Amino acid sequence: MADNLTAEQRKRNMTAIKSRHTKPEMIVRSIVHRLGFRFRLHDKKLAGKPDIVLPKHKKIILVHGCFWHIHDCKRGNVTPKTNVDYWQKKRFRNVERDKENLRTLKNQGWKVLVIWECRIKKPLELENTVKDFLYD
Ligand SMILES: [Zn+2]
Repeated sequence: MADNLTAEQRKRNMTAIKSRHTKPEMIVRSIVHRLGFRFRLHDKKLAGKPDIVLPKHKKIILVHGCFWHIHDCKRGNVTPKTNVDYWQKKRFRNVERDKENLRTLKNQGWKVLVIWECRIKKPLELENTVKDFLYD
């Protein structure tokens, strides 16, 4: 595929990727919606502003980017070639924050499901994971 994006378009794409409403999150959201569950998005009152919150069921679904949250997969194990220190620090800080947030949420009685970005590629498994969690 030819890369005919202008610099400005590319910049906009990168910004979009970093934004909260990432594609994997949209996919998970649509599954939850299809299953008939009501949810809130990015609840500011909760630790880490969780992506998908189901207050009635006391359940939370987090969608984690493999690179940013250092998943144990191909994408998560990538080490950036430039500005290594900067990126690594940023990523490790994410992981620390994830742990803290999880602890806080669990202490508050929330059940939390973490969905990794790379799982999105297997829609059937993904849907079953979400179902198992929500119907539990
Ligand atoms: Zn992954």
